[in-house]
Amino acid sequence: MKYALVTGGSRGIGRAVSLKLADQGFNILINYHSNESAASETKQLVEQKGVKAALLKFDVSNREAVREVLTGWYAANTDHTIDVLVNNSGIRKDNLMIWMQDQEWDSVINTSLGGFYNVTKQVLPEIIKGKSGRIINIVSLSGLKGLPGQTNYSAAKAAVIGATKALAQEVGRRNITVNAVAPGFIKTEMTEGIDEKEYKANIPLRRFGTAEEVAELVGFLASPAASYITGEVISINGGLY
Ligand code: NAP
Repeated sequence: MKYALVTGGSRGIGRAVSLKLADQGFNILINYHSNESAASETKQLVEQKGVKAALLKFDVSNREAVREVLTGWYAANTDHTIDVLVNNSGIRKDNLMIWMQDQEWDSVINTSLGGFYNVTKQVLPEIIKGKSGRIINIVSLSGLKGLPGQTNYSAAKAAVIGATKALAQEVGRRNITVNAVAPGFIKTEMTEGIDEKEYKANIPLRRFGTAEEVAELVGFLASPAASYITGEVISINGGLY
């Protein structure tokens, strides 16, 4: 049975991606960190689409925890494969560099960049065994252009963009594609405190995007239609640069 693992699948973009990949026939492994009720709700919504879903609770920044849960899953599911990995978990802790706390720097880097490494390191050998697969990393406009107040977040996302391009070249001959999706402002809990009215004048499409719009792009990258696309960073930002 083919599974897609979506980190941070409990809410926001990760939930929409889980539902989109379920529509495409994948069984879904929903990773989350602490929001059990949101994760259970995503699981129910995925199951309503007629595929299987399971919750995998771990902090992507905790290498040992990631290793323990994923090796446990593989050991208990020897006849199942993870064919699609969506590295989506992320947090932001905005501050000007001059005021930035060590914890704000470390937690953002460890979640986005560390999470990419920790999860991909566990899943990649198994994807390679399966002889095909998709890795899709959710980055950000912030990682492409840099945003003031987000040196931590911009650095983490830019690093994942570099890793995406490097890994794509390592695993291309094994029929595995690795791409990144770079959203602009998307309406989720992450952007709850940001006033859309204030920012939308700068966005050519004059609005924030939705998690479902991002999920459409991820779904495309996971589909056979995207089989010759790798090492790319695809923006989804309403024209904002
Ligand atoms: P969100 O609504 O805040 O959801 C964040 C998700 O990440 C939740 O599922 C959360 O799990 C999970 N998560 C956070 N820390 C984690 C950890 N240490 N281990 C495992 N899971 C963790 O955020 P979102 O807006 O959907 O963002 C999803 C991704 O898109 C992030 O990488 C973000 O940087 C990126 N992005 C978002 C926007 C935007 O405008 N929203 C723009 C560009 C890029 P719990 O539910 O358990 O807390």
